[in-house]
Amino acid sequence: MDSDIINVFDLMQRKESDLPTRLASQEEALDELTCTEPRLGRWFEENTVSYVLAAFNLSDEDFVEVFPDLKHISAVQRQNIIQAFVDHIERCPKCYRKRSFDLEFEGRLESALQENREELLAKLDQSGADEPSEEEHVIYAKARFAHNS
Ligand SMILES: [Zn+2]
Repeated sequence: MDSDIINVFDLMQRKESDLPTRLASQEEALDELTCTEPRLGRWFEENTVSYVLAAFNLSDEDFVEVFPDLKHISAVQRQNIIQAFVDHIERCPKCYRKRSFDLEFEGRLESALQENREELLAKLDQSGADEPSEEEHVIYAKARFAHNS
């Protein structure tokens, strides 16, 4: 499982060897900014902005699986929260920046995955069905990058 995660990194670094350095400097840039509403912004500390928004957009069933502690939040409430997130990102210098870094990272990852599609598909065929999804790979990968730097 671990080797799969490292592979995604390798793919990205094959193209851009300075990627870890750049991610580290992005982390530093974010550290210098202050979130205007940490109640909302803390959600984006561990996960990418698009992941959080996608998670809140899940069906009730799937949402409870991702966030068992938040099962009391209804679908309507979640839509309101998404709107609050979106409004916050537009206003908050830190979260706005975080989103642009996330988008940049996801774009790079996407193109690395595209370029190495055949190799990755071959690898997926060999591994079991209980592997984490691609989305989870992204998050773990990014967290690892941040902590290793
Ligand atoms: Zn913020």
